[in-house]
Parts: sequence; structure tokens; C-alpha cells
Amino acid sequence: MQTLKDSFGRTFPYIRLSITDVCNFKCGYCLPNGYQIDKSDNRKFLHLEEVRRLAKALSELGVNKIRLTGGEPTVRKDFFDIIKTIKENSGIKKTVITTNGYHLDKIANQIKESGLDGINISIDSLNRETFKIITGHDRLDEILRGIKVLQSLNFKNIKINAVLLKGINDSENDFNQWSNFIQVNKIDFRYIELMQTGDNLDYFKKYHISATKFTDYLNKNNWIIQTFGRDAGPAKNYLNPKFEGKFGVIAPYSKDFCKNCNRLRITAKGDLRLCLFGNTGINIRHLMQKDEQLDELKDLILKQLNFKKESHYLELGETGLTKNLSTTGG
Ligand code: SAM
Ligand code: SF4
Repeated sequence: MQTLKDSFGRTFPYIRLSITDVCNFKCGYCLPNGYQIDKSDNRKFLHLEEVRRLAKALSELGVNKIRLTGGEPTVRKDFFDIIKTIKENSGIKKTVITTNGYHLDKIANQIKESGLDGINISIDSLNRETFKIITGHDRLDEILRGIKVLQSLNFKNIKINAVLLKGINDSENDFNQWSNFIQVNKIDFRYIELMQTGDNLDYFKKYHISATKFTDYLNKNNWIIQTFGRDAGPAKNYLNPKFEGKFGVIAPYSKDFCKNCNRLRITAKGDLRLCLFGNTGINIRHLMQKDEQLDELKDLILKQLNFKKESHYLELGETGLTKNLSTTGG
């Protein structure tokens, strides 16, 4: 079997595939004015058959994990068909999603039945008002209800992510709320440091805060850093035997963040992005049109990897092509 490997020796068993740019939320750091159609780009989002061919190619290139993201992936009417078509590849051992969790209470049963291997839910605050301010939606309750349904169905791999925002969700009280939550729930909770994108410079300047504010809290409260496994990606996890869940931190501005990079991204319109922030990436969709193009598609992806850079150079203020993370899936 072939393997995706770059010129720095990193391998890429993990793909984040965006299946739509559309999102119904208005998170201040991502789509503060809600989703707007890009009038300069009238390409449609990848359709099911294209996803089927892409997943087959990726599976044959040694990819074993695909994360569906967006936009909000669950807004797609054929969302569960997409999961099914990806899971038809025996090489893809894990199909997972990142979602804002809206209507989770309604689709939790279908999620369980689909055989999905994991779900990351973005919840920026456990405080209803704060949640509403950040996302523009008063939907915290339905998300939490959805989690309860998943738990009652014995759905195993649930994680929650929040973007750490200065003065909004970074108080000791916020941290304690999450601590109480994971004390009794077998759910991992991670703070992501706010990232600067092409669109959010003012927001970034106002709300970015280093994740050390949270790691200081963890150290003070006897959380022990876990030496992480190969597949773990960029999160640093913290353990405490008295708690059901783990804490984690994703700090893209930290030194060496890119060293352990194991993922590539494909946008909802079929652009291969070598880095969330890299300004290198090309469209590979024209090779998803017929089953006979499988080898060509695999070759193109393999060749593109030679262009992957060593680091995102975010600390230098380079945001690459990324206007906001709704097109690349975060
Ligand atoms: N809509 C889904 C959701 O919110 O989970 C999936 C797509 S969203 C772009 C994926 C993740 O990226 C979310 O956890 C979101 O909080 C995160 N994100 C978006 N913009 C970000 C930014 N500027 N900095 C850090 N994380 C960001
Ligand atoms: Fe939508 Fe996710 Fe962006 Fe929030 S972070 S606006 S939920 S795509």
C-alpha cells in the first residue's frame, strides 16, 4: 500500500474533509455575519459520488481516518449517505465529524446507527448567555440534550472543543464549569487557542489569549500532562484520575506545533490544502469524475505532498489563503 509522506518525513493518515461551507451559526471568530455565498466562486460542493471516489483514493493511499467538517456538515441532506459511502472503504478505520451540535438531540439516534466512530462538538461555553453571544444562537440546551441521548445510546467517542476567548470564556469560573462537567462525563474537553484568519484580525486582537492561562489552571489543580500517541495530533492532553474525562489544549502558536502534523485538508469544493494556513493547494476535483481516474487522483495527491511546508508561519502573521475556517473546516 502507498503512504502519504512529505519531504520532512511526516506521514498523513488523517484527512479533514469539508463537505459544505454553509453554516447556520454566526461564531464571532469565524462567520460573524453568518454564511454568505461567495459570488466569485459558483462551484457547487462536492457531491456524493465525488466523495465516494475521493474516499476510495484516500483509503488506497493509507489514510485511515477521515473527519467530516464544514461549515456545518450536518446541514447537508445527504450527510448520512456521505458517512455510509466513506465507511464502505475497509482502509478507513475511523470516520468522525466536527459539528456545532445544532439539532443533535434530533439526529443522535441516526448518528449512532450510522456507525460514526467519533464526534467533536464545539461548545464555547456552558453558560447559556455566553454561548449565545459567541455563536449568535440560543441552542446550548438542545446540544446538551443531544449529548445525553448519545450517552444513553452508549456512543463512545465524544469530545468537546471551545475556542478560548479573552474576557469571554477564560475565567476560573468557566474552567470550573468544565471541570465539573468532565468529572462526571466521560468526555474530553479541549480549549483551542483563537487563530488569526484573513477575516478576523480585529476580533483576534481583541480576544486572543495564550492557552497558558488554562494550562496554569490545570497545573494548579493537579492535572498531569499525558505523553501523547502518534495519532493524537496537535492536542496536549491532561489527566486526573478523579475525573471521567480528560482536559486538552490545542495551541497552534506554540513552538513545534507543526512537527507532529499528520493531517491534510480537502475543501468542500475539492481543493487539496496542505496546511490549514498554507497558501499552497490545488483543485483535485477534476479527477473525481470517473471511477477510471482513481490512479491519476492518487498520483496527483502524492505529488502535491512535496509542496507541503515545514511550518504554518502563523506566528509571523501569515494566514495564507484562509479567510475564515468555515471553508477549511478548522
Ligand atoms: N461548524 C462546525 C463546528 O463549529 O464545530 C465545524 C467547522 S468549524 C470551522 C471547526 C472548528 O474550528 C470549531 O471547533 C471552531 O470552533 C474552530 N474555529 C473556527 N474558527 C476558528 C479560529 N479562528 N480559531 C480557532 N478555532 C476556530
Ligand atoms: Fe459555523 Fe463552525 Fe464557523 Fe461556528 S465555527 S460559524 S459553527 S463553521
